[in-house]
Amino acid sequence: MTASTVPPMVRVRGVHKSYHDNTVLKGVDLDVAPGSVTVLIGPSGAGKSTLLRVINHLEKVDRGYVMVDGELIGHRRAGGRLHELRESEILKQRTNIGFVFQDFNLFANLTVLQNVAEAPISAQRRRPAEVYPMARELLDRVGLADKADEYPRRLSGGQQQRVAIARALALRPKLLLFDEPTSALDPELVGEVLAVMRSLADQGTTMVVVTHEMAFAREVADTVVFMADGAVVEQGPPDRLLVRPDHERTRSFLAKFL
Ligand code: ADP
Repeated sequence: MTASTVPPMVRVRGVHKSYHDNTVLKGVDLDVAPGSVTVLIGPSGAGKSTLLRVINHLEKVDRGYVMVDGELIGHRRAGGRLHELRESEILKQRTNIGFVFQDFNLFANLTVLQNVAEAPISAQRRRPAEVYPMARELLDRVGLADKADEYPRRLSGGQQQRVAIARALALRPKLLLFDEPTSALDPELVGEVLAVMRSLADQGTTMVVVTHEMAFAREVADTVVFMADGAVVEQGPPDRLLVRPDHERTRSFLAKFL
């Protein structure tokens, strides 16, 4: 297959989402190629986080649809109609998609190793004898092999976020979503998290990342998507979009980072 005919890992079509009378997504279309890194940028309130959350069905769409790896998210097509999936089916779909939150969301009462091993055992019903060695390997990959038996509160924010990344990887996801993964970190800890994300990108992990780290977008993204007011304003490779944007809106947003 040529590049243009490879089916996307993520296909978002005509997605609308409102909270009461606040329309947050106004007909968003997006394709994410397998093995690519897509960075979503835009002003606060643009709908970036909501878009990530509809991709793994933490939020329901009001209109439109999301497909991940050819599978409709949250719905099943039967007899020419869409039917909502049951909660258990949604949870199963969600295990194919890793999500890394701004504030880590680790389980405080579990050790680092247990945090990484928990979902594969409880949600994917994999054997602990297989999961624990894998969890140790993942901790090694994010540079935290020596912290396996610590509790999260004893770790720095950067270390906790690296544990959260290992935990997301433990589900062997098809796709990793990151929602401002470095925004809650002290500046000196941002680099270690971005370095782990960069190495995942180098290994061909499909990633969608909401971030204000423009250097990361420039160096790691295949596609940068600029959103404003619930819509995609424009998208393109970073050396075009970040340097010669087509829209004034994009230009004035980027000017704040110079
Ligand atoms: P961004 O990530 O670009 O900053 P968000 O997707 O977080 O934007 O938010 C877009 C808009 O949706 C904002 O106006 C925000 O207040 C609103 N919003 C987001 N989540 C909720 C929610 N759970 N309930 C009500 N409003 C929400």
